[in-house]
Amino acid sequence: MARKVLGYIELVWTCDSCGTRNPGAIRSCTSCGAPQPIDVKFERVDPATFNFIKDEALIRMAKAGPDKHCPYCGTRNLAEAQICVKCGGDLTVGATSRPVGEIIEDETDLVQAASTNQADPTRQKVERKPLPKWALIVMILAILACCVFGVMYLTRMNQTDQLDATVSQAYWQRQVPVEAYQLVRASDWESNIPSNAQTYDCQMRYRYDSDTPKQNSEEVCGTPYTIDTGTGVGEVVQDCYYKVYEEYCSYDTMQWVVITTLVEDGYGTNAIWPSTSLTMDQRFGTSTERYTITFSTRSEEYQYTTTDYSLFQQAVPGSDWVIEVNGFGDITAISPD
Ligand SMILES: [Zn+2]
Ligand SMILES: [Zn+2]
Repeated sequence: MARKVLGYIELVWTCDSCGTRNPGAIRSCTSCGAPQPIDVKFERVDPATFNFIKDEALIRMAKAGPDKHCPYCGTRNLAEAQICVKCGGDLTVGATSRPVGEIIEDETDLVQAASTNQADPTRQKVERKPLPKWALIVMILAILACCVFGVMYLTRMNQTDQLDATVSQAYWQRQVPVEAYQLVRASDWESNIPSNAQTYDCQMRYRYDSDTPKQNSEEVCGTPYTIDTGTGVGEVVQDCYYKVYEEYCSYDTMQWVVITTLVEDGYGTNAIWPSTSLTMDQRFGTSTERYTITFSTRSEEYQYTTTDYSLFQQAVPGSDWVIEVNGFGDITAISPD
């Protein structure tokens, strides 16, 4: 978030002794002559508008740094002053600089000032209400229920039975994708597209937010607000960021594309791979294999699926096995008997 200075405005302070509102840069009350107190609170002259200062000298003073109070008589002096304007005391040691950087408006002023500006999401404060008691109880109950369910689930998972079973069926399926090197239309951010590719249908699209201006960026600024410079002059600033847009294009590229998938399947324990003859611009993709063994016990049938071909080859229909079945009826392990 970049802070942008819009300009400077005159501030006012109220005299403790007589209640007169004095201009920020005036160091003793215009009515009763009382010195400005060290903990003075500056306010905006008019919270609804910004009347920017045009006087260059006043702006220079605001930029020079915070005023300082004389260690001997308390009088406010300019930042660059060496000796006190009132008592002539040495200001190079022991002078107290005014606090800087405090934001002058409160939230209600901001809302008024924001009427002509779009609201800045970064300055919005979301009030959080504490959770009601019943919600807390519901949450605790829900967590407890989850724990109980989780424990039950794990027990069922881990509770296994060893059963004698016979292989009643062995089924296999093998797949081989065939890929071809083809011209494909793809789309991406222009900066990601290979320079030799032909691009078309380019569109400006929002890509990300940046703190600094970039090529093709749009500035988004929040509500202006005023900062105390410590001089009686306020600095009006705005927090801004940049929405960066980039070209998003379609382009043509050569890629390997799956054009067909060859499948072989069958029953029994001898599986074969599908095959075909490839043309010059074709290749085989990553092949997959899946073997399903059906076991029968005295009362029930269980299915077990694996990619282990050497294990599957032992599952000759009619052979005897020992299988482990968990609480959900799933086989967790098999071994030939
Ligand atoms: Zn006064
Ligand atoms: Zn002094």
